[in-house]
Amino acid sequence: MSQRNVIGVDATTVKDLYQKVSLMTKELNALRSKRNDITRSTKAAKSADERTRLIEQAKQLKLTIQEREATLATLDDKLLENALQIPNETHRNSPIGPESCARVVKTIGTPIDPDNHSFPIQDHLALAKKHNMVDLESAAMVSGASFYYLKNYGALLEMALIQYAMHKAVEKGFSPIITPDIVRTSFAYSCGFKPRNNEMSQIYDVTTPTMDSESPALCLAGTAEVPLAGMFAKKIFNEQDLPQRVVGFGHAFRAEAGARGSDTKGLYRVHQFSKVELFAVSRPDQSELILENLVNLQEEIFTELGLCFRILDMPSEELGGSANRKFDMEAWMPGRGDWGEISSTSNCTDYQARRLSIRYRPKDPSSQLEFCHTLNGTAIAVPRLIVAILENFQNEDGRIEIPTVLRRWIPGNPSHI
Ligand code: AMP
Repeated sequence: MSQRNVIGVDATTVKDLYQKVSLMTKELNALRSKRNDITRSTKAAKSADERTRLIEQAKQLKLTIQEREATLATLDDKLLENALQIPNETHRNSPIGPESCARVVKTIGTPIDPDNHSFPIQDHLALAKKHNMVDLESAAMVSGASFYYLKNYGALLEMALIQYAMHKAVEKGFSPIITPDIVRTSFAYSCGFKPRNNEMSQIYDVTTPTMDSESPALCLAGTAEVPLAGMFAKKIFNEQDLPQRVVGFGHAFRAEAGARGSDTKGLYRVHQFSKVELFAVSRPDQSELILENLVNLQEEIFTELGLCFRILDMPSEELGGSANRKFDMEAWMPGRGDWGEISSTSNCTDYQARRLSIRYRPKDPSSQLEFCHTLNGTAIAVPRLIVAILENFQNEDGRIEIPTVLRRWIPGNPSHI
């Protein structure tokens, strides 16, 4: 657990709580069956005295059962709360340690050196403003800081990126899905967005006029991974129907609590963005290969877009609660003078499947139901790709070359903005 930098919970506490809950459940079941016996005996009682005595015994037992049920419910909540915070196991080949331990697997393309270029490199914000592609001021007034309007070629670029990625994934056999952007908070928990810690503060709670104290809590999806994983909850697949592969389009909402500095200027770190998300449900023995396939598809997408990027094998402290292994991709952004994360792909093995009850029936009829594995990966996170496109494909005169694969999705099929 220390390898994952998880604080505030340990496996021994969960084990102790589990043992207590199991013991109490057994005792409670014994009391319940004793009470049933008494009820039966009451009906068969031979005298009024005996019946009265048994009725009194049943009453006392009922009170004891109610007390124990309340204690068990509290203990059960505590067990769930603690157990939910236990992270997935870490893949044997993942680097161990903090972000700085990420292993560069591969670099594609050559980074533009902003200090040694044939003309002065501008950052994405200057370029977007020059082409009237964003309106941050109106967004700040209407929604707040770190929101944005995409306008003109900005809006068209977003739609082109989405069309391109959705088509690409569908061609590779993924089923297209448009996801709901509001989800029950319990589904965010089940996907590994942990309750009552810092990560939770990254999630926007939603209340509606029709909500009462009994209504399930709602939140804005931080990623389409949550509604996509949720779509498979409580499903049982036949072995031969796996893997299931879907590509979802949705909006991601991030409170980005604590985010400051140059990343929050412009489009790099924002509160809302459109995202095309790849998601798969597989048999356990398929998931390592599917992770590789997802990474290959992303590599193909970013290569076709003409970006200079690198693939990173992420270390244990960067895996969050749910991932067993994770590969991030970072594009070179010469206006920022740095690499910027553009996608993240994880094999969550059975972590989410257990919490959401996603199972399959093995071909062998004598086998029991097994938990599936789930995987997710970003095909396109729109604003960061707009940053990368503007900064990498700028010309000396400030015009932007549009990646060839996007042109067909933009009216007039322009080669430049
Ligand atoms: P994540 O689900 O956190 O792995 O994010 C998926 C991708 O979304 C990242 O690889 C980034 O490209 C992008 N992203 C994450 N957070 C933000 C944000 N606040 N603003 C813009 N893009 C983001």
